[in-house]
Amino acid sequence: MKFTPDQNRVLVTGGAGFLGSHLCDRLIAAGHDVLCVDNFYTGSKANVEALLGHSRFELMRHDVTFPLYVEVDRIFNLACPASPIHYQHDPVQTTKTSVHGAINMLGLAKRTRARILQASTSEVYGDPEIHPQVEGYWGRVNPIGIRSCYDEGKRCAETLFFDYWRQHQLEVKVMRIFNTYGPRMHPNDGRVVSNFIVQALRGEPITIYGDGQQTRSFCYVDDLIEGMLRLMETPAEFTGPVNIGNPTEFTMLQLAETVVRLVGGTSKIEFRPLPSDDPRQRQPDISLAKATFDWEPKVALEDGLKETIAYFRHRLQA
Ligand code: NAD
Ligand code: UDP
Ligand code: UDP
Repeated sequence: MKFTPDQNRVLVTGGAGFLGSHLCDRLIAAGHDVLCVDNFYTGSKANVEALLGHSRFELMRHDVTFPLYVEVDRIFNLACPASPIHYQHDPVQTTKTSVHGAINMLGLAKRTRARILQASTSEVYGDPEIHPQVEGYWGRVNPIGIRSCYDEGKRCAETLFFDYWRQHQLEVKVMRIFNTYGPRMHPNDGRVVSNFIVQALRGEPITIYGDGQQTRSFCYVDDLIEGMLRLMETPAEFTGPVNIGNPTEFTMLQLAETVVRLVGGTSKIEFRPLPSDDPRQRQPDISLAKATFDWEPKVALEDGLKETIAYFRHRLQA
């Protein structure tokens, strides 16, 4: 990549995934030079199709558990399967991606003096005892359960980010992402928003796990990416961790009813067993993001769901 002073050379790992592809779109639109690195484990070329051939966009097939030598000014480290079905498919690889991937990207940041942002997760709080979750809460995570490869992998990645910050004075930003949805989610990744929409569009029963009283707070992808871009450009001394998510909380039963209404289908609700370690409640406290970089979500659930439903309708027809 060529260097020009007013544009950054930006590396996005996991750039062909759901969030990464939206981030690449925004970075290209803002005039940056973007290197998208992905091993296509859960992501796809189709997600970045519109960018292929763009003079400032480059796509590289690479697994972040192996070293990477490139020259960049900014690194967004998003590589990691994010849905339980995907991250539990090969749990050892999931931990390796979080831990070895973080070490390699931090090593790269150390050599190039690039600023680096980690896509961490609300899962570092585990099944939380405090509500809503603030960044100072240390979490309640099972170290040996079926979600641990993801939760503990992400927690260890945070540890590495803060040790590279203390030991090597890197400019780090740690972002704790809460449930996010929108176009380019995987139709069969088992996450609740994609499941419910696909089921409603096909007229199949809506599968609620447990009694449907567990809550989540859903952030629309455009809001999330705006928060990510703002966090990256905060002053060097601000490291986070910082929560990014939508604090408006819904039960899974409410979500199911809303999706069925918006799709206009005839799907019935079916109750299924609750998977183990499934958190009861999750809601971000976003005061820190608001105070530090004036961020808060703007897209209401119904509006975001309409966009997402339109995307899935088109995909299922194709
Ligand atoms: P995604 O699965 O769509 O994207 C992850 C991308 O990383 C995929 O393109 C995948 O192919 C790639 N990848 C996986 N392992 C890799 C490896 N070893 N080397 C290179 N690329 C690899 O998931 P997403 O929802 O876009 O999530 C992106 C990031 O945000 C993840 O780190 C995830 O943990 C985090 N996150 C997402 C959410 C959410 O609600 N979507 C919530 C919390 C955290
Ligand atoms: N690394 C990389 N790209 C670079 C520099 C380093 O992928 O441009 C990897 C390297 O393989 C190493 C890891 O990052 O294993 C950590 O680098 P660091 O310099 O912290 O550790 P060291 O090389 O001293 O073990
Ligand atoms: N869920 C559900 N039906 C589904 C898929 C998920 O009721 O078809 C529930 C799941 O048990 C959890 C919530 O929805 O309580 C959110 O699940 P998801 O996998 O989307 O996200 P996470 O558990 O990682 O927050």
